[in-house]
Amino acid sequence: MEITFWGTRGSIPVPGNEYAKYGGNTPCLELRTASGETIIIDAGSGLRELGNKIVSDVKSGKYSLLMSHTHWDHIQGIPFFKPFYIKGFEFDIFFPESEEQCAEDMIDVQMQPLYFPVTKDVFGSQINYKDFKDIGIFDFKNLEVSIAKVHHSKNTHSYKFTENGKSIVYMTDNEIMYNAADHEPEPEIIYKNNSDLIEFCRDADYLIHDSMYFFNDFKNKIGWGHSNNKSLSIFASLANVKNLLLFHYDPDHNDETVDRLAAETKMFLKEYSDNIKCIASKEGMTIKI
Ligand SMILES: [Zn+2]
Ligand SMILES: [Zn+2]
Repeated sequence: MEITFWGTRGSIPVPGNEYAKYGGNTPCLELRTASGETIIIDAGSGLRELGNKIVSDVKSGKYSLLMSHTHWDHIQGIPFFKPFYIKGFEFDIFFPESEEQCAEDMIDVQMQPLYFPVTKDVFGSQINYKDFKDIGIFDFKNLEVSIAKVHHSKNTHSYKFTENGKSIVYMTDNEIMYNAADHEPEPEIIYKNNSDLIEFCRDADYLIHDSMYFFNDFKNKIGWGHSNNKSLSIFASLANVKNLLLFHYDPDHNDETVDRLAAETKMFLKEYSDNIKCIASKEGMTIKI
């Protein structure tokens, strides 16, 4: 399996030279399985460029889109995804349904006259809505997909992809909990408050995780549903992952700041583990296992 990053930024796209190294697009990943299936993960602004690549490569095809949740930065690429408009393409959209929302709503809400000039009625592709309610483990075309709920706004999900004994966890928009107003992040309290997610990530080859904040800036952001780099370092070491991929950068963090975030995270990691590699994800990067 391999994963390519088309968007690594959180909250809002950020253009400009000072974001050129890590990229300015919001979350979108392209996962290709060993058997040749493509699963697109999240539909942030990076989806637009992925769509442009798809239509320049092929005239038709079937793809899957798997959504973590419906915050704006994870859905805003949808109206700009060219393959949706073209007959011959087919999509299964896998969506964690809630009482408030299903996959079709996610598209209708943003493609209505108040926000966009046309509705999804102009789409030429075949779209199959595959809402799901259960968390657990599912077989997906020779790929095992495990699903967990994370600490973020209601109904946000993490996915673990396992193929041929190797696994990648996508866990963006997750606040690692430790009663941060009153406590420092320490392994014991981090495990106590996050044991379900730590076990979900256990021994993963790659953990792609929310890295919005520096530890020193976190006090003002408690409860926003994102993590700081010290609690993340402890979380990754407790889960014994092999590689930690920083992801979902704060839009105010330019390349220099992300470099600093990565260096500081490596320093924190060393306190808790000898063997975890920390990589700052960037647009265009592909990991293959
Ligand atoms: Zn987000
Ligand atoms: Zn979110």
